This record gives sequence, C-alpha cells and structure tokens, in this order.
Amino acid sequence: MWNWVRRLAAFIGRDVADPNESKKNAVMTRCICVVMSVYIAGQTVFMLIQRYYMQAAIPAVIFLIYALALYLTYFSHSLIAYYLTILMILGWCFVSTDLYGWNTGAQYAYSTVLVYIFNGSHISVRRKVMDALILLVCGFLTFLIGMNGKPVYLISRYQTVVQELMNMTSTLLSLALITLIFSQDTLDAERKLMDYNREMTHQAETDALTGLMNRRAGEKYFEMIHRRSIREGFFVNVVMGDIDFFKKINDTYGHDAGDLVLKELALLFQEFMDGKGASIRWGGEEFLFVLTGINGDVAFLEMDRLRKIIENHEMKAGEQELHVTMTFGVEEVGTDQTLLDVLETADRKLYMGKARGRNQVVM
Ligand code: GH3
Ligand code: MG
Ligand code: MG
Repeated sequence: MWNWVRRLAAFIGRDVADPNESKKNAVMTRCICVVMSVYIAGQTVFMLIQRYYMQAAIPAVIFLIYALALYLTYFSHSLIAYYLTILMILGWCFVSTDLYGWNTGAQYAYSTVLVYIFNGSHISVRRKVMDALILLVCGFLTFLIGMNGKPVYLISRYQTVVQELMNMTSTLLSLALITLIFSQDTLDAERKLMDYNREMTHQAETDALTGLMNRRAGEKYFEMIHRRSIREGFFVNVVMGDIDFFKKINDTYGHDAGDLVLKELALLFQEFMDGKGASIRWGGEEFLFVLTGINGDVAFLEMDRLRKIIENHEMKAGEQELHVTMTFGVEEVGTDQTLLDVLETADRKLYMGKARGRNQVVM
C-alpha cells in the first residue's frame, strides 16, 4: 500500500521537462488532476448506477480531459493544463448544479479553484485578479442556476448525501494537497535560511586557520561565563599566551610552517581545555584561555602543565622537526572586573614572563 502511495507521489512530484517551467505549478496541477479524476470517475459511476447512461458521457469526457491535462504537465504545457483543469472544474460545477441542484455542494470546488489561481506562479498578479473575478461571475451564475431552475434530476436524500460527501472530500483533498505543497516549500526555505544563518554565525565567530573561537566570539564567551560565575559563584581565570620567537619560525622555515605550528597548537589547546573552558585565537600568535571552576593557583598549575606539553610536543613541517615554547600570564577574574581590566593584567604578566626568559607561566 505505502509502496503504491510512494510511487504515486514520485510520479506526481517528477520534475518538469522544461527548466523554464515552474515545477511547483506542475505538481499542483497534477495533484488536482489526480484528485479530480478520481472524483469525476466516481461521478460517472454514480450516473451509471442511476441509469443515466447518456449523461454519464459528460463526466467520462471530463475524466479524459483531466488525464490529458495531467499528461500535458509532463511535456512543458503546464499553462494549458492549468486552464483545462480550471475549465473542467467550473464546467462540472455548472452541470452538477443543473442536474442535482445547489444542495449537493458542487460549488465547494470554487474554493479549490481560487486557491489554485492565487498559488500559481506562472501568471501575473493582474491575471490572477482577473481570473478570480471571472471565477466570482461563474460562482454567481452557478448560484442562479441552482436557485432558480429546478434540478433536472430529483435525487433522493441518500443520493444527495453521497454527492455532498464526494464534493466535500474532493475539495478538501485538493486544498490540503495545495497547502501541503506550499507550506512544505516555505518550511524548506525557512530551514535552508536557518542553516545558512547558523553557518554564517559559525564562520563569523571562528578563526579560519585554527578553527578556534576568534576574538569576537571570545569576548562574547567571556561575558557569558563572567555573568554566570557571578550568579553561580565559581572561579574564572583568564590566561594570555604568546608563542616564543614565532617570528623566527616564520623567517627560518617559511610562513606555511608557521601556519602549521598555529594549527597544531590549536589542536593541543582544544584537547587540553576540554571540560576546563575555552581557548581563543586572540590574534596573530596570541591565544586567550578562559578557565572555569578552578582558582588562580590551580589555573597556574594547569597552565604550567600545558606549557610542558607544548615544550615536549614535536611538530613536523615537511622533513623539518619543530619545537616551540609559549609564555603565559594568568589572572583570576574578580567579580567587579571587566575583560579589559583582566586582559591588561594578564598581558602585563605575559610580558614579565617574556622579559624573564620566556617558556614560563606568570601569575
Ligand atoms: P616573542 O617571543 O617576543 O613573542 O617573539 P615573536 O617573534 O613571537 O614576536 P613578534 O610579535 O615579533 O612576532 C609575531 C609574529 O607572528 C609576527 C607575525 O608575522 C607572525 N604571525 C602572526 N600571525 C601569523 C599567522 O597567521 N601565520 C604565521 N605564519 N605567522 C603569523
Ligand atoms: Mg610571540
Ligand atoms: Mg605576539
């Protein structure tokens, strides 16, 4: 059963042959054609059961025209299919109202046509308004036929109910399918936009070379952690780190080797900081570390551990083996301090470490 439904959905959803034609319009027409074909086939059967053999030719012909319209949507004639479909729906509204009277609800189909007209993207807004006005006139005419003339066939209450159910079901089904196509489309577009926004935000906050947070994201991160630490009462430490004699690496082994060092160090930082806080590329070969939940003394010990890991880490740039060291300045953040305040102190300590011979942590 589901297989059958899936096959029908694939058939209806098949792409249009002409890239200049809107697939959505074609799919909308196909949906309506399929629903209305089933409906009009039902009408043919209804007439045959009532023994209106000659008159059954009308819905039978309409059925063939829906089939033709469906066929045309696969061969770049969606506009012809569109007008054929509308004409057939309106035509049947007239005939059905004339035959069975207003009460059987053939006029429900006008709402399908209206939604169909306004959702089509292959005609201009002016054309849509014109078509809607024509639809209104047709609606009035059908009403006149239904209200003034006597129905050709006086069908029983039971037959009226069958007619009404058929009309209501086909209309609701057509409307549901059109709405589904367009709501799905809006949802898809919205999802794509959200993914795109997320990607843009990620790009705007990530350092392209190392994949770490960039300064902008780092500032935001610090503010967020700082606020939380005041609220929840945990320690925060800010550490400024700088690679020692990095210029020499660039000068001796080339800028690419320098980049490689930055990337490898970033991986070390990420691994080391996992669960402790975050590492941020503050700029050039300077990195900011935000450590949470430990006091200044523990932060000093932790950073000294990282310093040793870096010192002992061997990097390769081609055949060349590289070793680098880093100097760090640690500052425990007070509740009334701003990022600027702590950075100033951390920076001062960092340069104290540089002056004292580098490869050390200062607190
Ligand atoms: P110090 O120990 O005093 O920090 O010495 P240093 O050579 O590391 O300091 P300095 O600030 O003079 O040099 C930093 C160098 O970092 C200069 C710059 O070319 C290099 N640099 C900054 N950003 C990048 C980058 O993205 N890639 C590479 N390869 N080099 C960079
Ligand atoms: Mg440096
Ligand atoms: Mg520097």
